[in-house]
Amino acid sequence: MVMRTTRWWSNPSWIGRGLLLMLAGIAIAQQPAELIIRNGLIVTSAGRTTGDLRIRNGTIAEIGPNLTPAAGAQVIDATGKLVLPGGIDPHVHLTPVRTPATGPGADDFSSASRAAFAGGVTTIGTFIDQIPNESASVTLTRAVEIAQKQAIADVILHYTVSDPTTITPSDVAMMVDRQFTLKIFMMRPGFDQNAATFVNLIRSAGSAGLLTMLHCEDAAILTTTRQRMMDEGRGALQGQNFADAGPVVAEEVATGRAIGISEVTGAPIFIVHMSSERSMRLAESARSRGLPVFTEVRFIYLHLTRDRFNQPDGQIYTGAPPLRTQGDQDYLWGALARGSADVVDTDHVGYTRAEKMDPQNTIVRSRNGANYLQDQIPLLYSEGVRKGRITLERMVAMTSTNPAKLFGLYPRKGTIATGSDADVVIWDPNLSKKIRDEDILSNGRFSIFNGWEVTGWPVVTIRRGDVVYQNGKIAAMPGTGRIAPRTRWQKP
Ligand SMILES: [Zn+2]
Repeated sequence: MVMRTTRWWSNPSWIGRGLLLMLAGIAIAQQPAELIIRNGLIVTSAGRTTGDLRIRNGTIAEIGPNLTPAAGAQVIDATGKLVLPGGIDPHVHLTPVRTPATGPGADDFSSASRAAFAGGVTTIGTFIDQIPNESASVTLTRAVEIAQKQAIADVILHYTVSDPTTITPSDVAMMVDRQFTLKIFMMRPGFDQNAATFVNLIRSAGSAGLLTMLHCEDAAILTTTRQRMMDEGRGALQGQNFADAGPVVAEEVATGRAIGISEVTGAPIFIVHMSSERSMRLAESARSRGLPVFTEVRFIYLHLTRDRFNQPDGQIYTGAPPLRTQGDQDYLWGALARGSADVVDTDHVGYTRAEKMDPQNTIVRSRNGANYLQDQIPLLYSEGVRKGRITLERMVAMTSTNPAKLFGLYPRKGTIATGSDADVVIWDPNLSKKIRDEDILSNGRFSIFNGWEVTGWPVVTIRRGDVVYQNGKIAAMPGTGRIAPRTRWQKP
């Protein structure tokens, strides 16, 4: 039975269960005193071993063969299954507070959490935009309060700075203290207008211990290319227009500039959603020179090429940068295998199919991204691990361990070890299932991969010891997710 309802309060079984538990005076989502996961293949980024996990008080208490359950323990048999650390997707866009302008399709922390759990992800990172005439501290405090009310998954927050002239040294100190990350869009015209101030901000962030996430596409190249295409009547999202409007050279030169900024400031940078061979080669060269340049590959580039834009519904694939060529895709898989890609994640946005297909969308005004949280790791397993392109250990590194290290969550998260949070995914490596729109738990309610046959799926997802997803059903309530405590970033 497919759970189509994504609002827990409209699901009668929740209301019934909630009433029963309230009547009994028991807290909802109470954990058993002990949870044993029996006889799975436990995989970390460093290797694999068959054994049992003992989970108590939300953390992993013991790992070993033939653990004896305490009285009253819940036991899950994971024979033939993989036992993986919960996925960490640091790149998810949410609309936690709806306005008419944001429309009905956007995900908030609750709906994104459900999609995440079904996709084997237990921690999501999202972006909080700078608001003109409001201090970073006020904006972020409000975001934390909303996250604490809505989230079911654990959460980390990044602060997107569009006007660096108003960011003070004490704002940077606050972000370090309260464990936020910085995000900057080089593709926005405001980047060039304030380039020197941005470079100084990245420098001070880096020396204070903050990682800066950078969207690397050159604003001047993008703006002029798009304007020229609009003038030529090529603004519609048809054929190859969208791909042509985001040329690879825009990504390449901005990536080179970002690396230059890292080199001259010494600041660590995280280049988001790398899509092309040309930009990845620059990052690889920077890394070989020892620069603190870290890389994220957005998973759709591993599975789709720009030919998709020729489909009648090609505009469901828009995202920035656009889909690239088969050569780029092959190069990125190689980068994953040889360790040049630190993180593979989604850049999730909860648009509906109708929003993606809106005829008002153009190359200038496109709704970029789609809801991907549920598909990402299963596709990486099915197309990557099963087809021998990457090892299981690399998959775990790129979807859990490396983002945990880069975003200051490791070793509390990102691994299966004694003392770590019990964020655990029980994965059936042989379960074959089609991705179907009707199974999507995001408010986007459709998948750009609808109809794809995928082998390897999470069957049980556990967040800090709670079974939050099992047999296709979500079993936890908004407000149970937490802002995950973070420390300084570390190199994967
Ligand atoms: Zn993004």
